[in-house]
Amino acid sequence: MKRLVRAFLRTRWCPPWCMEAHIGERRGERIHNAWLRGVELSADPLSRQLWLDLILRPEDDEPYVQVQLDDHLVAELTVSQARAAGVHLIELGSLGGMESPDPPVPGA
Ligand SMILES: [Zn+2]
Repeated sequence: MKRLVRAFLRTRWCPPWCMEAHIGERRGERIHNAWLRGVELSADPLSRQLWLDLILRPEDDEPYVQVQLDDHLVAELTVSQARAAGVHLIELGSLGGMESPDPPVPGA
């Protein structure tokens, strides 16, 4: 029953994070999504783009985070998996940003 209620509500209203206008779409066919977040992986002209989006399709019980590299789907993460991956990325990025100690001076 709870699932039917959620499915009904999903077809009537957008979740608060949905940025889609849904112009011309029927309620039961709406795919809700947040705007894509892009991360450029290199500064050269052939750089690749990592794309992240939050999506909820009519057949989904919960939203998921879609990870794409350029036009290729890399992963679909549950919200909890996306949070865990985000925490790890922040931790690793922080570790990588730590300054190394100065090398020892010969003869000192
Ligand atoms: Zn929507």
